Amino acid sequence: MGEVMGAGRLARRVVKVAAAGVLHYSGMRKAMAAYRRSQSGGRRILIVSYHRVVEDLTGEMQRSIPGLLISQETLRRHLEEAAAAGYEFASIGDAVGVMTGRRVAKRDLCVVTFDDGYRDVYRYAYPLLRRMGVPAIIYLPTDFIGTNRRFNHDRLFHLVLRAGQRGFRPYFSALPGPALELLGPVFSGKKPLSAALDDFIGEHPAGVLLELIEALEQELGGGPDLLPEQGELMSWDEVRRMARDGFEFGAHTLGHTVLTLEPPEVVTREIVESKLAIEREVQIQVRDFAYCNGWYSDEIIAVLKANGFRSGVTTEDLPNRIGGDPFTLKRKVLWENFSIGVLGEYSAALTGCQLDDCFGVLGMSRPVPGRRTHSSAAVAASRLLGRSEGFGPKGEPT
Ligand SMILES: [Zn+2]
Repeated sequence: MGEVMGAGRLARRVVKVAAAGVLHYSGMRKAMAAYRRSQSGGRRILIVSYHRVVEDLTGEMQRSIPGLLISQETLRRHLEEAAAAGYEFASIGDAVGVMTGRRVAKRDLCVVTFDDGYRDVYRYAYPLLRRMGVPAIIYLPTDFIGTNRRFNHDRLFHLVLRAGQRGFRPYFSALPGPALELLGPVFSGKKPLSAALDDFIGEHPAGVLLELIEALEQELGGGPDLLPEQGELMSWDEVRRMARDGFEFGAHTLGHTVLTLEPPEVVTREIVESKLAIEREVQIQVRDFAYCNGWYSDEIIAVLKANGFRSGVTTEDLPNRIGGDPFTLKRKVLWENFSIGVLGEYSAALTGCQLDDCFGVLGMSRPVPGRRTHSSAAVAASRLLGRSEGFGPKGEPT
């Protein structure tokens, strides 16, 4: 059940590494950067996104969602590589100013963002950024900050790993209806756990995820090892300390909620109250938002605009254009593997090609669109399913 690279993925990696080498050393990378620059309206505005920054990558890979991880060392190399590629590091506000024509940029801009407020960002990214003088914004799901809670995605990942380690085979009649969608492909080896989890989180609202977590914990017999140690969040003191050093904070809902799956009243509460929580705790003005899962809708953007926000970041891996919509900012979500060659070595050529979006220019990356139609009807249906027969603690009325 480990995250083994399949033959297809390995072949794609070989092609990318080879292409990166050619582009990097032939000077074509520079030509592609120039092409993107003119396409973007004269200046490139690159927004990169990270989640967790760790010291012991090998150890952390054994227990955490791989796509959320980057080592402190590789992050440092990314930042150096971005500077070498001609980017100037900028705050999100400056980037939005350039996009909307209120400011002029002398150079291409790179905005560094971190989603979710993981404590390891405070431990390993914060000192590095400060030393290098790189600004950054951290998007906080405020109900989790300053608590010992863990995100649903981290809990589910951990629980399914534990289930595998214990030789547990799911007994689906004892689990809520949608459990099969997650566990079926994983236990049959059809999908790596992280991919199955991504798909599952995209289809079910938070309530269904929680129900599955509780049912799995029950089935696995409880015990303290069912709650992951990893995935700790920042405390409000840590947030305040970073804010005092000039780092910015944006809202990322209250409960890390995928808003396109929720009804209007939940959307409004998650947006407004997460903004107010940061403003109250940190005494700063919050005007920037990150969509959970990268998904947004016209309704969500309208709520942001009505409540004093100036920007919303997606996870669409596309170039930003001057004159583009600041509520659908494109971002490149990066993690350790974006810079790792075929033999597991760090590749500067690969990193450089990622930051210059060479694979996007060549049509080798597949951007996932974040715009969704709002689907509260589907939500209602899946909630009913989630609460169907056989759910809840055994032998007790539910
Ligand atoms: Zn997030």
